[in-house]
Amino acid sequence: MSERTVYAVKLKDQEQLMSSSSGGAFTALSDVFLEEGNAVVCAVYDYISHRVLFRIVDSREQRDLARGSKYLQAEMGSVYRDSVSWLAGHPEGKLLFFGLGCQAAAFQRYMETARCGDRVVTADIICHGAPSPRVWRDYVQTVAPEGGLTGVNFRDKKTGWAHSVGTAVVNGEEISIQDYRRLYSSRNTIRPSCFSCPYTKMDRGTDLTIGDFWHIEKSMPDFNDPKGVSLVILHTDRGRELFQKASGALEYRLSNERECWQLNLEKPTAWPGSRDRFWKDYRDRGPAYAIAGYSRKKTMPARIMEGISRVLGS
Ligand SMILES: Cc1cc2nc3c(=O)[nH]c(=O)nc-3n(C[C@H](O)[C@H](O)[C@H](O)COP(=O)(O)OP(=O)(O)OC[C@H]3O[C@@H](n4cnc5c(N)ncnc54)[C@H](O)[C@@H]3O)c2cc1C
Repeated sequence: MSERTVYAVKLKDQEQLMSSSSGGAFTALSDVFLEEGNAVVCAVYDYISHRVLFRIVDSREQRDLARGSKYLQAEMGSVYRDSVSWLAGHPEGKLLFFGLGCQAAAFQRYMETARCGDRVVTADIICHGAPSPRVWRDYVQTVAPEGGLTGVNFRDKKTGWAHSVGTAVVNGEEISIQDYRRLYSSRNTIRPSCFSCPYTKMDRGTDLTIGDFWHIEKSMPDFNDPKGVSLVILHTDRGRELFQKASGALEYRLSNERECWQLNLEKPTAWPGSRDRFWKDYRDRGPAYAIAGYSRKKTMPARIMEGISRVLGS
């Protein structure tokens, strides 16, 4: 019998829930570490370089800056070495790592090699695929050629969690970045390695997994929430202990592996037929042409065909 425990969760604090991409599992779990004087390793958007960088954060203010899904691959940078140094400087301290499956596995392995494995708890994030950071930077050039991009929300829930939209702030004005969201959905900008991702399964090798609790409107309609619901899968006793400590900040329901099923818990995202053409256009005709050409709204027949192949695929 599986030893995994599955929960649907959402933050009780409605303001924090709205600023989280799913149900705010990241906030509740990281609060436990911060309150105990420990630190959290997570991915933060940098508005100067328009990259996403892993950082060690030890306050709620810094942690809040890591909220939100960023649809570009984050850079590990020096975070492995910095984490070992942080642990050396805090002999009683512990780190909680949040990152995509590949990043969590790499972090865990590095820490074990550095003999720090027992002082690290790892949480991996379910992932559809990490998009190219170069495409995002080129996109920023198209929407803010003079600079001035001071805010970005890849999953703005003002239209509901299940119907979230991409928004950004350029020179103080909110703009839509739905075309970038559509480009991500087209799968053309996802890294080649993601299409054979070994972490797209239930057994993740981490202490716990977080993601969106998709399809909850069918499996647990009375717990569904337009502000978002997180999926939490606990794999180890360390994961269970952390969840237990975080549970006071959460509304939660016990679930199971069948109810929380989604594609990327079973297999990698499929290579899209248009990917080679997209990158040829990107090189030959330039980013603006390729981004505009491959981020168009889908026609109704195309959406119906996509729905049918998704059902057949699953
Ligand atoms: C590229 C990407 C693809 C995803 N695909 C899926 C999916 O197919 N199915 C699914 O259920 N969930 C997916 N998610 C996860 C989901 O969107 C939420 O990020 C997750 O449920 C956490 O939400 P939250 O409300 O708990 O936390 P939030 O408060 O929104 O915190 C976000 C967390 O994600 C981390 N993060 C954000 N962007 C990145 C990044 N680019 N690289 C590494 N870490 C990052 C932050 O450090 C933080 O820990 C994806 C996330 C990303 C970044």
